[in-house]
Amino acid sequence: MPATVIDGKLQSERVAERVKTLASELNLQTGKKPGLAVVLVGDDAASQVYVGAKTRKAAECGFHSVQHTLPSDTTEDQLAELVDQLNADPTIHGILVQLPLPDGINAPRIIQSISAEKDVDGFHFLNVGMVGVGEFANAFVPCTPAGAMLLIEQIHGRDLSGLNAVVVGRSNIVGKPMANLLIAHNATVTVAHSRTKDLPGTVRQADIVVAAVGRPHLVKGDWLKPGATVIDVGINRVPAPDKGENKFRLVGDVDYAEAAQVAGAITPVPGGVGPMTISLLMANTLVSAYREAGLPKPS
Ligand code: NDP
Repeated sequence: MPATVIDGKLQSERVAERVKTLASELNLQTGKKPGLAVVLVGDDAASQVYVGAKTRKAAECGFHSVQHTLPSDTTEDQLAELVDQLNADPTIHGILVQLPLPDGINAPRIIQSISAEKDVDGFHFLNVGMVGVGEFANAFVPCTPAGAMLLIEQIHGRDLSGLNAVVVGRSNIVGKPMANLLIAHNATVTVAHSRTKDLPGTVRQADIVVAAVGRPHLVKGDWLKPGATVIDVGINRVPAPDKGENKFRLVGDVDYAEAAQVAGAITPVPGGVGPMTISLLMANTLVSAYREAGLPKPS
């Protein structure tokens, strides 16, 4: 039987609708709007698309939404100065500096200079640490793993006791926080990466596979345990000659056509984890605005 397709677009719209309602309630109670500032440096085409989508979604949710687009020759000090201004701006509750930054800018310095209270991407060491020790109530959890976790909940509920999860990829922004979230939900977790000895055999142990690698179609159908839930985080741009000269399409890290024949449930690319990431960014910004207003965290 072909796998159930996990509709990340639909789920993300539900999250965004809830955020919009809560933003409007905040506005009624306090006169304030959640404020999101998105900073783009340079002219990376993919970054422009992501930043545009985030800015638009913030406006749709009724947020105060600001986009700062800086030239690629912006210096690290100029960027740091903008971050300082946004840290001090009471109308801004979330600051996102789009990665990658141009060569010559020390990205970790810039990211760590964002105030932990406005770090809605969840990259500040304070938020990373809180996620590491399971202090989720006070942390900003990185948006992509948080969104992937909500999709897993659609299939398995919140308690993953007794289930084996394999995360392929150990990056700080996806793989590691994903593993922490799965552990917090009682899954038995393995993190695989480029030095893993038998990747197909490791993935075959999994009831839940999260692929966050950045290698198109790396995970094959015959790597999967029949009935496994497959969450494909990868976004890879590959040539699509069938669409015309110089045309591209987006594919995941999982060979979808093969995997859909074996998996129990699977996320598509596009339309899976990607839209969830944007909605969870809105949710984090909303939480930040509630916090700043002294109101309890909305759920
Ligand atoms: P990174 O490049 O930071 O990390 C990739 C990880 O994959 C590393 O841990 C690396 O191992 C591992 N890896 C690379 N090649 C192999 C291999 N052949 N076998 C096993 N493991 C391998 O990527 P990110 O975590 O930032 O992103 C991963 C993917 O997710 C990308 O496609 C990215 O575009 C996508 N993404 C999607 C988002 C969304 O919103 N849907 C958001 C963020 C990312 P090692 O550590 O040993 O080098």
